[in-house]
Amino acid sequence: MYDFPDQRGHFGPYGGTFVSETLMFALEELKQVYAKYQHDPEFLAEFHSELKHFVGRPSPIYHAKRWSEQIGGAQIYFKREDLNHTGAHKINNVIGQALLAKRMGKRRVIAETGAGQHGVATATICARFGFECIIYMGSVDVARQAQNIYRMKLLGATVVPVESGSKTLKDALNEAMRDWVTNVDNTFYIIGTVAGPHPYPMMVRDFQSVIGKECLEQMPEMTGRQPDYVLACVGGGSNAMGIFYPYINYPEVKLIGVEAAGEGIETGHHAAALCAGTPGVLHGNRTYLIQNADGQIMETHSVSAGLDYPGVGPEHSWLKDSHRATYTAVTDDDALKAFHDCCHIEGIIPALETSHAISYACDLAKSLPKDKIILVNLSGRGDKDMHTVAQRAKLAL
Ligand SMILES: *Cc1c(COP(=O)(O)O)cnc(C)c1O
Repeated sequence: MYDFPDQRGHFGPYGGTFVSETLMFALEELKQVYAKYQHDPEFLAEFHSELKHFVGRPSPIYHAKRWSEQIGGAQIYFKREDLNHTGAHKINNVIGQALLAKRMGKRRVIAETGAGQHGVATATICARFGFECIIYMGSVDVARQAQNIYRMKLLGATVVPVESGSKTLKDALNEAMRDWVTNVDNTFYIIGTVAGPHPYPMMVRDFQSVIGKECLEQMPEMTGRQPDYVLACVGGGSNAMGIFYPYINYPEVKLIGVEAAGEGIETGHHAAALCAGTPGVLHGNRTYLIQNADGQIMETHSVSAGLDYPGVGPEHSWLKDSHRATYTAVTDDDALKAFHDCCHIEGIIPALETSHAISYACDLAKSLPKDKIILVNLSGRGDKDMHTVAQRAKLAL
């Protein structure tokens, strides 16, 4: 039986808690609260009620039949997280953490965001529960993500542009940690992916694993069995952990994570921490990172803002080293091609993040016989990406 993390939040040599003394206390409190409610029937009933009535779960599974036929290989299925309220998987996790905040009596919520997607999900749930919401975002990202800034403001959040360092996600992360240290008594820090110090990677994984648990029931109903492959894109790794986790104890099911190769791994302009990074410490945990020889975090690149993160959740680092999952990377151009194909052939506009997983699924399907089954986590819809795609299409089409 797979049983990670250990009591101290370690996934093999990864994970753990690398934070200041003040935050150790806050994390210990959070650990105890989570342990108390994790299996509490009333807590779980409220979580599942929100998922059903506010998010619209369970999300369906869809057979991409026309595309599978055109490819002439394995059958491709999509887990439709794009149909969730707010258009992606991120809402599953923020609901779980907001319910903990409510029980801890903390009515001030902070979060950091790069592309703005986690900011929008957090602002959404703060409106839903009547919490004060402060979102930290690098000022460079604020300028790039005008539409998501407007969404967060519509939902009642305060967006704080961070002017330090490179004025992007890692600087927003530092600023959120600083706020938390200062206001730890009344403030809950909602982290948006399976990263951060223990217990966040475990907690976010558990909340997101509703995705895989639904698949365990839905796949046999639809196809008579579990899939041969489960694929997901990997930024911080939360949609991937959400669909992988319930399948870890099914050794015949192969798990494949797809990172952003950007302009190509060899150019250095990518965001593939697992495929091309080395272990180090970022955001309070030990994991694979994109860093230089001096341990300085390097700038990352991906056409999809949601994959543009220099680290990855520590559990993926462990799944990679222990060979339970494998990781590959897809370039901007290949992801964009899969994006357009998915629009034309299936009538689904996927997120650019998701398009990386779809691209690899098509390549894999080509190499397999028709009776094999590939399940792809369709992590989100592409409405947010219209601007980026339109700009790139002028060059590509
Ligand atoms: C944020 C986001 C991702 C990347 O985050 P993970 O934690 O790796 O899942 C992927 N897809 C979509 C649609 C997103 O919004």
